[in-house]
Amino acid sequence: MAVAGPEIERLIQLLARLPGLGPRSARRAALHLIKKREALMVPLASALQVAIDRIQVCKTCGNIDTQSPCTVCTDPRRDPAMIVVVADVADLWALERAKASNGRYHVLGGTLSPLDGVGPQDLTIDALVQRAHAPEVQEIILALNATVDGQTTAHYITDLLQEANVKVTRLAHGVPVGGELDYLDEGTLSAAMRQRTLF
Ligand code: ZN
Repeated sequence: MAVAGPEIERLIQLLARLPGLGPRSARRAALHLIKKREALMVPLASALQVAIDRIQVCKTCGNIDTQSPCTVCTDPRRDPAMIVVVADVADLWALERAKASNGRYHVLGGTLSPLDGVGPQDLTIDALVQRAHAPEVQEIILALNATVDGQTTAHYITDLLQEANVKVTRLAHGVPVGGELDYLDEGTLSAAMRQRTLF
């Protein structure tokens, strides 16, 4: 039984589709928005409208921005010799938050997954290979998940880049900063051991 009119129910239903929000939190979020009408709901609505009007996918790297080529691609302080390959825009943003790289990026749009029917043609792998052949590019850094699909994708791309005159590197799947060995799973631990570096 609905406790509110259809407009409010619709708002709750839409909010409930957001990741991390179930019906119960969506109801709380909707109520919060309604209570903070001027301070939150109106600015949120206008931010969403701007996003609808202006946000686009960067034609070069696949990042999401209000311009294409995006802010990262057009930043002259970025090192054009390095391209960091990520599966998703969320990974790009995470690396940027961590200030992990000064290079440029390439968003694949996912990882190869035969089980889910995701093949090379579903990802931006061709465009990456093309970018890797540009004379200024020296290193391709594969920043992909340490999952079976992530590593399959990394191997596939590495093979394709044999022809290009670039160094292909990948993230060390090591011990996380602050991580205690005791709490790591075996896969992480053994990878950390194999990829040990000189101290
Ligand atoms: Zn870009």
